[in-house]
Amino acid sequence: MVCVDRPAAGGRVLQLAPIGPLADRLLAEQFDTVRAWESGNGALTQSDLASITMVSTTVRHGCGSAQIAALPALRAISSWGAGYDTIAIDAAAARGIAVANTPDVLNDCVADLAWGLLIATARRIGAADRYVRAGQWTKLGGFPLTTKVSGKRLGIIGLGRIGAAIARRANGFSMEVRYHGRTPKPTSYGFEPSLTALAAWADFLVVACGGGPDTYHLVSADVLQALGPGGILINIGRGSVVDQAALIAALDKGRIAGGGFDVLEGEPGAPLALRERDNVVLTPHYGSATTETRAAMEQLVVDNLLHFARHGEMLTPVRIGPRTA
Ligand code: NAP
Repeated sequence: MVCVDRPAAGGRVLQLAPIGPLADRLLAEQFDTVRAWESGNGALTQSDLASITMVSTTVRHGCGSAQIAALPALRAISSWGAGYDTIAIDAAAARGIAVANTPDVLNDCVADLAWGLLIATARRIGAADRYVRAGQWTKLGGFPLTTKVSGKRLGIIGLGRIGAAIARRANGFSMEVRYHGRTPKPTSYGFEPSLTALAAWADFLVVACGGGPDTYHLVSADVLQALGPGGILINIGRGSVVDQAALIAALDKGRIAGGGFDVLEGEPGAPLALRERDNVVLTPHYGSATTETRAAMEQLVVDNLLHFARHGEMLTPVRIGPRTA
C-alpha cells in the first residue's frame, strides 16, 4: 500500500525502537520521525515530547503508561507484532489513543511453526538429528520409536487468527480438533469451556492465545496433569500462559510426554531444566521470522500510521474482549 515517493503524510512520530530496515526507512521518509534510541529518551525536551502525535514501537519494546503520560499530544500507537501485552492499552484507551498491531499477515508462518514444533517433538527430530551427527546411528543402529502424529486429537487454546490457521492445517493430518477460549466460535470444531477437560481429551495441546493477566498461567499443574503422560504441549502464544515451574516438574515426573516451545517465561533464553531435555524442542520466539512475513509486518506498522494520519483511524486496530467471529 505504501508508495515511497508520495509526499510525507505529516504528524510527528516518536519511534521507540528500531523495527527493521523497511519500516525504519519508510517512517523516516513519510514522517517527521524522532528515533528515541538515537537521541536518547532522556535527551528529548519537553517541547519535543509535546510535539509527538504518533508512536511506533514493537511488541518486544512496548509502550508503557509512563511513556504515554509523557506524550500529551499522542493520538496513535502503531506496534510491530501480534501481541500487545507490553502496551498500556488501558492508559491509551482512557485518553482515546488509537492502538494498532500487525495481526493476520503472520498467521501462516506462526501456524507453520506450531506444526513444525508439534511434529519435531512427537517424532523427536532434534534428538534424532543429534543422534546421526554424533555417529550413534552407525554405532548403535536405529533410533528409539517415537509418537505418531496423524489421526490424533488436537486441542487449541485460543481459536483466534493463528489458532484457526493451526486448526486448518490439522485437516491434512486427519486430526479431530477442539478448542478452549472465552467464547465459542461459529465453527464445526468442538468448543470446550473447561481447559482441564480439553487437556484430558487432547493428545496435543497447543497454546495460541496471547499473554497478559487474563491468560497468566492458564496452563497450570492441573492442566498438565490432565494432559497426561502421553500428551505433548506446544506453545507459540506467550510464555506467561504456561506455569513454567509446573511444566518443568511435569516433565521431570513424566506427567507429560514432552513439549515444543517458541516462547518461554523469562525469555530470551531458556532454563537448563528445559535445555537439557531430549523430549523438549526449543525455538527462539521466531514464529513470524521469515523474510516475507517480517517485510509484511514492517509495512503494516507504517501503513497503520499513514492511514491514521490521513483518515484518523488505524487499518488493524487492537480490539480487546472476546470475539465471536
Ligand atoms: P487473536 O486473533 O486475538 O486470538 C487470540 C485468541 O486467544 C482468541 O481466540 C481468544 O479467544 C483467545 N483468548 C483470549 N483470552 C483468553 C483467555 N483468557 N482464555 C482462553 N483464550 C483466550 O490473536 P492472534 O493474532 O491469533 O495471536 C495470538 C497470540 O499469538 C498473540 O497475542 C501473541 O501473543 C502470539 N504470537 C506469537 C508469535 C510467535 O512468534 N510465537 C507471533 C505472533 C503472535 P476469544 O476471542 O474467545 O476471547
